Amino acid sequence: MLVIASPSGAGKSSISRALFGADPNIRLSVSATTRARRTDEVDGKHYHFMDVDKFKRMQADGELLESAEVHGNFYGTPRAHVEEQLAAGNDILFDVDYQGTLQLYRSARKDMVTVFILPPSIKELRARLERRAQDSVGTIETRLRNARVEMDHFEEYDYVIVNQDLENSTQQVRTILASARLQRQRQLNLPSFVRDLQSQIDSI
Ligand code: 5GP
Repeated sequence: MLVIASPSGAGKSSISRALFGADPNIRLSVSATTRARRTDEVDGKHYHFMDVDKFKRMQADGELLESAEVHGNFYGTPRAHVEEQLAAGNDILFDVDYQGTLQLYRSARKDMVTVFILPPSIKELRARLERRAQDSVGTIETRLRNARVEMDHFEEYDYVIVNQDLENSTQQVRTILASARLQRQRQLNLPSFVRDLQSQIDSI
């Protein structure tokens, strides 16, 4: 489970998309949200958009692995998709806030690597939020204020990347992922591979 978190506009979604596009073993966790769909967003691809009643029903029925209120909307991770993908041996990428990160960490599976993305400056963060231009001025101000709160949590993450350059930051996340995959306890086929090597020596 690879969690990428950041203040809104720091570049986490671009990094997630770049990683996802280039790595066949990564699956994206598509969140449920009550936020209004932006014009360039596709239901089922970027989010599962739904009304508050449906979201609350999923929450009550235990269908969300974690959930939180962010910028006045509800967001949550559908449980079934995550469990299916992990059972199939795929890595799964989560774009969640600090509240979601903590809940995922406390959930049964602790097999998690967490990365926090910081903007190079607040000037750049604001410029990115404005370039996106999908949100009203009030929303941009809310997101800037919430960025401050989100940044309070950087120490809860394993890795921190200052996103000066998208390509470079994406490469850094790839390096983190590659090193996590090489950790002995994550290489589940290792015991049988080593036994096989040993039995080949035995039969010489
Ligand atoms: P946005 O509205 O810009 O797509 O996302 C706003 C914030 O909600 C981002 O910080 C994003 O990481 C967070 N978020 C998106 N999906 C989830 C989710 O499933 N759970 C939690 N806890 N946060 C989420």
